[in-house]
Amino acid sequence: MVEIDEKVMNKEVLEMAFDRCIKCSTCKYSYKNFEKSCPSGEKFLFESYWASGRIRIIRGVLNGELDWTDELIDPIFACTTCGACMDSCQAPHADYIVEMIETLRELAVQHIGPAKNQQFLVSRCEESCNPYGEPNSDNEDLKKKYNLPDKAEWVYFIGCTSNYRQQSLRDATLRFLKKAKIDFTLVDEHCCTSPMIRTGQLSIVKDYMNYNIAQIKNTGAKKVITSCAGCYKTLINDFERFGEEMGLEIYHSLELVKQLLDKKKLKFKSGYNKTVTYHDPCHLGRHMGIYELPREIYKQIPDLKLVEMKRNRNFSWCCGAGGGVKIGYPDWAIEISKERLEEAKETGATVITSTCPFCKTNLTDANEAYNFDFEVLDLMEILDKVEIEIEV
Ligand code: SF4
Ligand code: SF4
Repeated sequence: MVEIDEKVMNKEVLEMAFDRCIKCSTCKYSYKNFEKSCPSGEKFLFESYWASGRIRIIRGVLNGELDWTDELIDPIFACTTCGACMDSCQAPHADYIVEMIETLRELAVQHIGPAKNQQFLVSRCEESCNPYGEPNSDNEDLKKKYNLPDKAEWVYFIGCTSNYRQQSLRDATLRFLKKAKIDFTLVDEHCCTSPMIRTGQLSIVKDYMNYNIAQIKNTGAKKVITSCAGCYKTLINDFERFGEEMGLEIYHSLELVKQLLDKKKLKFKSGYNKTVTYHDPCHLGRHMGIYELPREIYKQIPDLKLVEMKRNRNFSWCCGAGGGVKIGYPDWAIEISKERLEEAKETGATVITSTCPFCKTNLTDANEAYNFDFEVLDLMEILDKVEIEIEV
């Protein structure tokens, strides 16, 4: 075994590259279905762009067979971290493949830097606390607009994509929480750190996590709700992985909706007479195992006809935005979404919906770039369009 003296957060996942992968290639397709599942491998059609190849790269750079050259940048960073390979691989390291890739990126950032433009994720955060480089909103205006208190039981963690790119999703969530009379407030957020973790750029991650935890705890809240699949996964999984125990309950907004439906407190007073197909966000589906909850909600909305794409649930084709691909490889990101929209077209749906603002952004960009005529809407936006009554 090669002694790993590199500075990375989790050496154990790198060690798995030496003895766990049996090079069987099962990770290249959906297990059993043999559908295409890895956007990166399918695009570049070269071993190093599949999960198995990336594991060989880890081995190569650690045991000295591979030098750190710029030729490694694309094989290492052109991956959406969608987790389809984890779902297919049947070996004992399956659950850790994306963490292995993220840790390889952590190493690569120290030796050859991230892919083109991905460094802006950090520099923009350093300037204005969000990866879009927008002037930081401390959310005080929203607090005033929605008459929110300083202390509350819940914090709605908006997330950068909803706050700076998908404000209709943010506002739909705010209106839903008000209608449900949830005792909630907002905080001056820093980015949840997901984009930095996915691209191996960890310099500000711990500080940002600590800042967000302190902001939330200042409100006295015990529960955090978000309508972003990326924030949700990061707040639950990555904060713990980085040793930042929050001691808070974390919810995706759809979990609150489902609870209200189960308790028969949420009633629909009008319908949504459209054919809708649901795109599983990788961060909610494969990474967090939530597949049925959103479907159970859509099925209860009167008049809504839910149709499934051929690849759904754990077999879903990624939207193409994750893992730093949207900023590092923007044209390819929407090519991946194009394939998803073509699949959605086959269902006869006129609406493609998701539960993640980042998926919504990329699907919308592809919808426009390739002249599809879908309505791209989040679950919260659909709920905002129907008349609902919430008993409290
Ligand atoms: S990562 Fe898993 S599925 Fe892929 S080649 Fe290795 S053992 Fe096989
Ligand atoms: S995470 Fe997704 S894109 Fe990356 S290697 Fe695995 S299947 Fe391919």
